[in-house]
Amino acid sequence: MKWEPKLYTSDGERRKQFSTWSIPKTIREEHGISDGLTVKITFILSDLEVTGRYKVTSGGEFRLPKAYSSEVEKAVLSNEKKAVLSNEKKAVLSNNIVFKIDLSEKIESDFMSQVYDSMNSNQKSRKARLKKAPKKPTTTTRSYVSFNRNPDVVAEVLLKAKGFCEICKKEAPFIKKSNNTPYLEVHHKQRLSDGGDDTVENAIALCPNCHRKQHYG
Ligand SMILES: [Zn+2]
Ligand SMILES: [Zn+2]
Repeated sequence: MKWEPKLYTSDGERRKQFSTWSIPKTIREEHGISDGLTVKITFILSDLEVTGRYKVTSGGEFRLPKAYSSEVEKAVLSNEKKAVLSNEKKAVLSNNIVFKIDLSEKIESDFMSQVYDSMNSNQKSRKARLKKAPKKPTTTTRSYVSFNRNPDVVAEVLLKAKGFCEICKKEAPFIKKSNNTPYLEVHHKQRLSDGGDDTVENAIALCPNCHRKQHYG
């Protein structure tokens, strides 16, 4: 969905900064955009169109990277002159910038939000952080419940599939070297963590692409 951000306050004062924007409440409510979510946002200005992934903080706010916010400011200011000339200042200005959210991608994982934050930051500072970062990862000890899957279910589902993905019907992308069998992944239609059964009926063999789509599509 799209929206046009306000560049002017109700008393005609121009916006002072161009880095922090906010997604209108109605849009957030309608589409379940909660705080902490990272969404794909494109901003469109006459000759500029940039897509990034931004984390939405309280009040629906998100920050554009510095480089872009100055681009936006420049573009807004250059359009302003035209707008003044046309003598329809407010109407024209409200149309010269549009944000578009693509909700096909909602990133809830904290880790992936951090990845996109890093992509949004400039390369120089990222490289500086990388230089200082410890080479060995830190570790966290966790206790968790895991499901002991039945190997017979996996075997039966793979054999039934005969090397073809059950969604796109394409052949497995490669043959596993270890045992010369086609590489497919067994997916539970109703997840085990949602109380799904570990049975042949609840499982399908998928190529890696279709499998990802099932989880993130
Ligand atoms: Zn497939
Ligand atoms: Zn799965």
